[in-house]
Amino acid sequence: MLRAVFPGSFDPPTFGHLNIIERASSIFDEFIVVVADNRGKKYLFSRDERVALLEELVKRRKNVSVAYCDSLIVEFMKKLQIRVLVRGVRGANDFAYEFDLSMMNRALDSGIETIFMTTDPAYFVLRSSAIKELASFHGDVSAMVPAPVAAALGEKYR
Ligand code: ADP
Repeated sequence: MLRAVFPGSFDPPTFGHLNIIERASSIFDEFIVVVADNRGKKYLFSRDERVALLEELVKRRKNVSVAYCDSLIVEFMKKLQIRVLVRGVRGANDFAYEFDLSMMNRALDSGIETIFMTTDPAYFVLRSSAIKELASFHGDVSAMVPAPVAAALGEKYR
């Protein structure tokens, strides 16, 4: 069984995240999207809201599940005996950050393998932070996020 996790804030999930989930989950037998809940970070959507949105988006994919993690991702992976961590990269800036992160995770647990998946060109400009800003000005985000997320953003910024 080839299993992998895809950790992130997903605040909120975008078509970019969904594209990585679709492509990466076709490679692995079991694919777990892990919603990070870091005490030091301020999120627009609560942990439960982000989990619920992702569950709605992946419900038709049999080998994809959603979990949350409020500890180190390496601890979470150790508990489930998963070695592969998937991260998406939009460009060189993302890669510099992701590379450092992968080095840190490897320093914490040398058994962890990080796999980078490059974004589909259609989604490389999508960024949760920019989408939240646009939504806060009541801009149209329907091309950037799935319908349930667009509706949830509309509710937040009503
Ligand atoms: P984090 O706060 O951990 O960076 P994000 O929710 O922003 O979490 O992103 C989770 C993962 O998805 C990261 O690896 C990020 O690079 C990737 N990602 C985000 N947006 C895109 C996109 N448009 N295309 C490909 N990967 C993306």
